[in-house]
Amino acid sequence: MIQLYIPLNFLGVIYREIKQSLTDLDKMFQLLEREREVQDAPDARELQLAGPPTLRFENVSFAYERGQAGAEPGRPILRNLSFEIPAGHTVAVVGPSGAGKSTLARLLYRFYDVGDGAITLDGTDIRSVTQASLRRAIGIVPQDTVLFNDTVAYNIGYGRPDASQAEIEAAAQAARIHEFIASTPLGYATMVGERGLKLSGGEKQRVAIARTLLKNPPIVIFDEATSALDSANERAIQAELRRAASGKTALVIAHRLSTVVDADQILVLEAGRIVERGTHGQLLAQQGRYASMWALQQSGAEAATTA
Ligand code: ATP
Repeated sequence: MIQLYIPLNFLGVIYREIKQSLTDLDKMFQLLEREREVQDAPDARELQLAGPPTLRFENVSFAYERGQAGAEPGRPILRNLSFEIPAGHTVAVVGPSGAGKSTLARLLYRFYDVGDGAITLDGTDIRSVTQASLRRAIGIVPQDTVLFNDTVAYNIGYGRPDASQAEIEAAAQAARIHEFIASTPLGYATMVGERGLKLSGGEKQRVAIARTLLKNPPIVIFDEATSALDSANERAIQAELRRAASGKTALVIAHRLSTVVDADQILVLEAGRIVERGTHGQLLAQQGRYASMWALQQSGAEAATTA
């Protein structure tokens, strides 16, 4: 029973902490770890990866437990879901709001454990390794990057505390945020966040991309921002994301189809099931769900540009 009420309890803690200091997803996970339900197995090993791994979801089912915000008790969110991301490849997940896309990312980061089935990296079940070693291997660019009330340099370097100033600047260059930072009077020493420089959604995402580039993890998760950026900015960020994903095992949670055209494989998720899978071209040719979503989005985009 105790496990069932803890999530509500620690949501309160998180809310207060977030109010006190701006934080980000990694920090939030750390906070959650204090009273989380996912524990390391007593014999958990360090995750050892030789390079970007093959990632598998094997017959994964999942329901958020009773008592968590907004959940109906035990409602299945993912149902017997299987897919593979071959080492160094990119798989994108699309589907309607609430389909379970972001839940995949939460399970991979082991924010929650799967109900049934397994998630494996080069055949190793992620439940058999320490969470710290798993998370070191994963870089996340979350939907809404919330930054620390600290300097730009700290915010980029977080995740690789030993990074030199030159390495931080190189990552910022690659994420196309260096010029903006350099144009501020204090440059990398500029404070950001609530009491400092306010960054736009796109700029914050670039900071998160720079952080991921610097961390250089073998696995990356991109949870695309739901709030649309202007299309020039969006295209530019997508190019930077593609660069950050190149050669890595990447899971892209896409809330817009324009992001996924180049993915090695696209999964169409509906109510927790994969209903279609293939490349953009294959899925258009199938004339199924993806093709209608694409047609709808194209007509929406046209309406927006002709309005
Ligand atoms: P969107 O595109 O709107 O972000 P999504 O496909 O990413 O949606 P998820 O965030 O994975 O959807 O959510 C899937 C379902 O799980 C939703 O019905 C949501 O209400 C529910 N859900 C998400 N997070 C929790 C949680 N912490 N506790 C309980 N239910 C949750």
